[in-house]
Amino acid sequence: MKFATRAIHAGQEPDPSTGAIMVPVYQTSTYVQDGPGAHKGYEYARTQNPTRTALEANIASLENARYGLAFASGMAAIDAIVKLLNPGDHVISTSDLYGGTYRIFTKVFRKYGISFDFTPMSSPEEVEALLKPSTKMIWVETPTNPMLNIIDIAAMAAIAKSSGAWLVVDNTFASPYLQSPIDLGADIAVHSATKYIGGHSDLISGVLATSNETLYADLKFLQNSCGAVPGPQDCFLALRGIKTLHIRMDRHCSNAAEIANFLKDHPAVGDVFWPGFKDHPGHEIAKRQMRNFGGMVSFRLRSDRMEDAERVLKRSKLFACAESLGGVESLIGHPATMTHGSIPAEERAKTGVTDTLIRLSVGIEDSIDLIADLEYALA
Ligand SMILES: *Cc1c(COP(=O)(O)O)cnc(C)c1O
Repeated sequence: MKFATRAIHAGQEPDPSTGAIMVPVYQTSTYVQDGPGAHKGYEYARTQNPTRTALEANIASLENARYGLAFASGMAAIDAIVKLLNPGDHVISTSDLYGGTYRIFTKVFRKYGISFDFTPMSSPEEVEALLKPSTKMIWVETPTNPMLNIIDIAAMAAIAKSSGAWLVVDNTFASPYLQSPIDLGADIAVHSATKYIGGHSDLISGVLATSNETLYADLKFLQNSCGAVPGPQDCFLALRGIKTLHIRMDRHCSNAAEIANFLKDHPAVGDVFWPGFKDHPGHEIAKRQMRNFGGMVSFRLRSDRMEDAERVLKRSKLFACAESLGGVESLIGHPATMTHGSIPAEERAKTGVTDTLIRLSVGIEDSIDLIADLEYALA
């Protein structure tokens, strides 16, 4: 079946006991057994919950994968994936990375003896040069945050395969509607479902998908052993959000395209970062591996004064100044002080996150109003 149909139906059957068309919120911690061990597949709700089961099956379907797993947050999903590794293992990661992922790699997992190298991944050679016998994982985030660089997933999959490493792709910025990492050779696709998947800025959630049975078994073991599982209400909200993922993404993409073109011609604006531009360095790869260019746009002011960026963020109204992205409402952020505040200034500058870089999560409001709002904020 096609994506839109799977978004609405995959993993969800009418409730067998009542016919309820929506998967109920199974707000329970345990399940009555007919006798010791004689249960219906559900024993204890950290291990299994039917609302979560529905979400996990849905995510697997949307990612064209065999298995899905849901977590209490995107970071909890990422945490589980890194815990597949052992002390001494080495990871090659995208350098222009979500700040929280950079933090868990460098501040949490380094002290357990896992080592990380960061690279822009703008060519396969760059990654091959960092390979070691101990390299067990290649970690890709594309489009990147906040520079919206594009990394060639298929090329990274080829390197991972030939070196015996797992390829993990953080697919949060694209969503499963725009990009299918598993089809491109990734072993695991992971999301902060807090963003486009949930889509309404009303929950914190994480999901992952894989078609590798051993990886799935190991990740499910970690999910249950470490216990960072989502509650059933959050699974319900994620499932509800997903039902409109395809139509939301279409509007995010078309609004972002209009706004990127508006910004490109604005006298106060310098570089505009959006993979839909023909002269964007990743444009050809984006056309190949994505179905559209996404709802995120970053830009730099011509001015390099931090106060000027702060002024834009204060003056915009529809574009609300807030962390996060991927909701139906438009948000404006200042990576240097907000999402990337936990990355040291020199590291930040290396990846292009300068003082007047501004990031937009373009919502699904009317584009005329969004452009008027930016016009006022930039005046
Ligand atoms: C938000 C985000 C995360 C972390 O997810 P949470 O749900 O906030 O824990 C990871 N990766 C990317 C790309 C994100 O945007």
